Amino acid sequence: MPLIRSWIAAANAPGCPFPLNNLPLGVFTHPNRYGARCGVAIGDQILDATGLESAGLLRLSDRPVLAAPSWNALMACGPRAWGDLRAQLTTLLQADAPERASVEPFLHPMDAADLHLPFSVAEYTDFYASLHHATNVGTMFRGAENALPPNWLHIPIGYNGRASSVVVSGTDIRRPWGQLKGRDTQTPHFAPSARFDLELELGAIVGQPSQGPITVAEADDMIFGYVLLNDWSARDIQAWEYQPLGPFQAKSTATTLSPWIVMRAALEPFRVAAPRRVLPLLPHLADCGPMHYDIALDVVLEAEGRPPVTISRTNARELYYSAAQQLAHHTTSGCLMRVGDLLGSGTISGPQAGNRGSLLELSWGGETPIDIGGVSRSFLEDGDTVTLRGAAMADEYQIGFGPCSGRVLPALKDPYAR
Ligand code: MN
Repeated sequence: MPLIRSWIAAANAPGCPFPLNNLPLGVFTHPNRYGARCGVAIGDQILDATGLESAGLLRLSDRPVLAAPSWNALMACGPRAWGDLRAQLTTLLQADAPERASVEPFLHPMDAADLHLPFSVAEYTDFYASLHHATNVGTMFRGAENALPPNWLHIPIGYNGRASSVVVSGTDIRRPWGQLKGRDTQTPHFAPSARFDLELELGAIVGQPSQGPITVAEADDMIFGYVLLNDWSARDIQAWEYQPLGPFQAKSTATTLSPWIVMRAALEPFRVAAPRRVLPLLPHLADCGPMHYDIALDVVLEAEGRPPVTISRTNARELYYSAAQQLAHHTTSGCLMRVGDLLGSGTISGPQAGNRGSLLELSWGGETPIDIGGVSRSFLEDGDTVTLRGAAMADEYQIGFGPCSGRVLPALKDPYAR
């Protein structure tokens, strides 16, 4: 896996998250310039892809596909156009490219740009696909004997979330109010969540529609790319509401995405086989090739006025079900999938205590608060900033995702004040 060298020096630097091998897709604005545009991260720059297309330097279809500030239109064009985009960008940006002089005016410094959601989220489904996470949570809620529900080893458990909850990294998150129930009563009260949490997840973006049930292999071909995803979760609201229909308001406050779509093609060298199957999967969900990814992930928590502390390190290969299996399962009923559908992997936890992807697990339901540089945390406090980070690491380069970050604001004093 060699580095593809670029004439943009920063893209060749060791440790750069955005080398020419990556080419992740975002939407950006620059202060005092034009409105939001499609951009590609390269080194420390953003390449104005909308501008390149209208100047005739990128040709992806017989009509413009990057005129609107979202990558949905390109997704809808299909995998051949996805490959064309990467091939043309690589040609324009690689070292000694004769097009350098005509491309240079379309570069903008990344540190001066504002980043927006890179695609319009059609619908959002969240899963529960890490065996360690499901075992930890099940043990806390139902005891070690009944930790895994009987269906868990046969289907990727999921629920339909809210596309309207999805926000881009950097958006502040207001602590929600909800119905909460104390331990020793059956009577709830209405108050700000006291057990507000993060969930470290990988988000898969569906780039093609489905017309009916699809195979795992077909599902894999339909996935456009991946982002980091923080599924903010109010555990006290969840505990009271989740039976029998699953999470509802506990998960509807916000879902934060990292700003760059890492295309599936950039992750090809990092494919790994699925973990050992505890029970064989039914044929329609069976593994048909390496569809998991080796992506190092971590969670950084920064209390207000204190240095950031890494509270968890794990890897996307810890997921039991791949996004392709989740997508295939999603269509078994005939459920139609759309361009721009977002699938959350579910919290990614590894086998060790330091690999847990939520505070619920890290503090074991609040029984063992963790220390973050001299202050303790069971759940998130007001002013805390959570940042998810991820990168697939090769010898010569890495495929970075860019941070997925959000700060917790205090609950409103009165949510019904007018
Ligand atoms: Mn989740």
